[in-house]
Amino acid sequence: MPTFKDATSLQAFLNSQRTGNNTVGFVPTMGALHKGHLALVTSALSQNEIVVVSIFVNPTQFGNAGDLKNYPRTLSKDETLLKTLHNDIIVFAPNAEDLYNGNITSNSYNFGAIANEMEGKYRQGHFNGVGTVLELLFDIVKPDYAYFGEKDFQQLQIVRKLISLTKQPVTIVGCPIYRENSGLAMSSRNERLSKERREASAFIYKTLQKVKEDFKYKSARQLNEWVKSEFDKQEALELEYFEIANIDTLKTIKRKHKNNKYRAFIAVFVEDVRLIDNVSLNY
Ligand code: AMP
Repeated sequence: MPTFKDATSLQAFLNSQRTGNNTVGFVPTMGALHKGHLALVTSALSQNEIVVVSIFVNPTQFGNAGDLKNYPRTLSKDETLLKTLHNDIIVFAPNAEDLYNGNITSNSYNFGAIANEMEGKYRQGHFNGVGTVLELLFDIVKPDYAYFGEKDFQQLQIVRKLISLTKQPVTIVGCPIYRENSGLAMSSRNERLSKERREASAFIYKTLQKVKEDFKYKSARQLNEWVKSEFDKQEALELEYFEIANIDTLKTIKRKHKNNKYRAFIAVFVEDVRLIDNVSLNY
């Protein structure tokens, strides 16, 4: 399984592979791979002859220096895991100076109103960082398809918007959230939780499931209040936001409208580890 650190040799290799109708599937990640990432790679493998996984902890999408420093980096373990799926997966693991051509800063994109909600509100500059690194990676890999998890649902919508802005010829594929047995959404950050905190974090999805059940007959306001009061009782978990939003505009709803699709979104701190999750509510 080849691993490339620099863009030129990756591109040369990809050009040698891109014959006939071969398509390139691309899974951008920040590494510390888990089964959620592997599910994305499995989808890519089922739909493409060539699969590239990038492993790059992108500095421009972190607002918090501590979070960037503590983000797990486990390249050789990641390579071993990918090998269990397929021997020919191509890994791209550049360093930041090279990828950014010595200028590690974000572009400024006009993603519209969706960028100002939730993650955009609480992580200033985050989506500009995500957009910048993806535009760079898409330019290098030139994938036909790129795979993203619904775990970061807002990011998925931002990536779709990015493609409409940059006109890069790639089709974005959204993949369902992969969960631990407890229901906790898999995340590289889960590795930083103690056993007890990890168990306590299962409460996040349990709450979302109850919200989904009650969404049929309770108002968004009632559900908001209920979620806040439930989290007030949880010592280990600190609620950052809970929002019920329209999946297209990502705007918080005041009232339900027929034919609109809604999801519930949540961000929670477990000590200094920030976890996010979401569920569909009426579709
Ligand atoms: P990350 O390495 O956290 O930047 O994630 C890389 C990709 O994997 C993103 O598209 C994420 O949405 C996706 N991903 C992360 N965790 C999960 C999960 N539990 N289920 C599905 N996709 C995920």
